[in-house]
Amino acid sequence: MKADVIVIGGGLAGLSTAALLAKSGKKVLLLEKNQRLGGYASSYSSHGHRFDIATQALGGCGKGGVIYAILAELAIEDTIRFLSCEPARMYYLPDGTVYAQHGFLEEQQQELKKDFPACVSEIDRCFAVWRELFSELEAIAGVPAKAMAFQFARSFPQLARYSRSTVQQFFDELAIPEALQVRLAARAGYCMLPLDRLSLVAFACTEMSFGSGAWMVEGGVSRLADVLRMAIVDMGGVVRTQIRATSLVSQEKRVVAVVAGGERLSCEQVVLACDGSELLREASGLPERFMAKRDNLEKSGSYFISYYQVPEDAVHGLAPNIEIWPQGESKGAGNENVGVYYLLIPSLVDRESAPKGYHSLCLSVPLAAGVSPTGPERRFIRRNLENEVRTRFPALAGKLRFLFELAPEHLQLMTANPDGAAYGWAQTPGQAGIHRLGNKTALSGLYLAGHWTMPGGGIAAVMTSGRLCAHAVLEES
Ligand SMILES: Cc1cc2nc3c(=O)[nH]c(=O)nc-3n(C[C@H](O)[C@H](O)[C@H](O)COP(=O)(O)OP(=O)(O)OC[C@H]3O[C@@H](n4cnc5c(N)ncnc54)[C@H](O)[C@@H]3O)c2cc1C
Repeated sequence: MKADVIVIGGGLAGLSTAALLAKSGKKVLLLEKNQRLGGYASSYSSHGHRFDIATQALGGCGKGGVIYAILAELAIEDTIRFLSCEPARMYYLPDGTVYAQHGFLEEQQQELKKDFPACVSEIDRCFAVWRELFSELEAIAGVPAKAMAFQFARSFPQLARYSRSTVQQFFDELAIPEALQVRLAARAGYCMLPLDRLSLVAFACTEMSFGSGAWMVEGGVSRLADVLRMAIVDMGGVVRTQIRATSLVSQEKRVVAVVAGGERLSCEQVVLACDGSELLREASGLPERFMAKRDNLEKSGSYFISYYQVPEDAVHGLAPNIEIWPQGESKGAGNENVGVYYLLIPSLVDRESAPKGYHSLCLSVPLAAGVSPTGPERRFIRRNLENEVRTRFPALAGKLRFLFELAPEHLQLMTANPDGAAYGWAQTPGQAGIHRLGNKTALSGLYLAGHWTMPGGGIAAVMTSGRLCAHAVLEES
């Protein structure tokens, strides 16, 4: 088949783009270098335990959420079941208190107002601005760039005001007390930047995508990739795995083919749903200033993660998703100095993911961009993490049976994301929201999807990027 559109990369961004295009009648060919689809959103089994190796929780899966809406658009929302994580996350804060964060924004907002009665109007203002930023960003995607230049400030007032702001600047403007800042920005850990570097727009999008709950997929996150693949194939598309795209062919400033596995595959349009730096670098027809801008962007951080088996009784009283701050740490979630770490027990949500009598447990620590610990360094980090966990939760002492570990180099091998960047480009104000690389490129017929483009990293965001990208492709066909 000569494809209309070739999608390179079978992560959730590429799969969503391909499925939506196939539904619109396009002949789609998706190419994935790995045997498995899903990219970071993959499940892996070890000793009877199934782990979602690169997801802690998904936002946007409840009715009204972006993932649910995309699946509904494809009429496959009934083929998958999402399991609610409530509370969304427990935070062991530096002052020794424990904060159980609701999965639903209204409840979270009410609870914060109860705990901070002197700051009711500030809390309302924060949530109102985040909601508006999110809906303005959703709306802006459909507006042609030329039209935007004239009415930007009038049509998108919050983006006009805050698109260069950090979360910290916003809190300072509202004079939010420090204890409240910690709670309001608790979910900033998902963005992996301290509050004085984190884009307010990016944080608002994360908050809103988790606004209708935090979720896991029954049977593992790879089910999401499976149902999207089935949708593509059912609608006449083709999915080829174990085939790596090695170059883009362009003629007269228009992309005309992809070279993959030694074959030249002709097409009308190409969607790059992976990092693809090498493909872009060698493609002729892309302006130098695009590549120069791209080469200067800062990548997000990555993670070191270790996975364990624990006896069932050892996790009694623990929540499935826990963020732990070392005591005495001043402020700022997603601390780049690796102060914060995560303890997950996914089998508390999906009991089938661990053998009878046991639970699955993961410990993960964020790493700054480009940091990739060597073998001995990893053993050191792992020992420290295990010691810290045993001290804090004595029931786990002597009960952690190590299964395997993942470091940035493994995450890079899996997906070709440089340095195992967890969320594509870092969500600083200059690279987030309207300042992030868009879905269209200056090379005619070439589009971008996934966490290296709009709106950002995280599963809800990359599936949204798939939807935006599919619209852009259809608009120009
Ligand atoms: C440890 C970790 C924890 C995370 N936790 C969460 C979380 O709790 N919640 C959340 O929402 N998000 C989380 N994320 C982020 C989320 O997983 C990613 O942002 C998202 O899955 C990226 O999807 P993608 O489709 O853009 O890219 P990827 O998943 O990177 O997929 C890209 C795909 O392209 C393929 N590919 C690359 N090059 C080529 C080529 N030349 N030819 C063919 N195929 C190619 C790769 O093999 C891969 O399958 C986490 C990420 C990590 C690493």
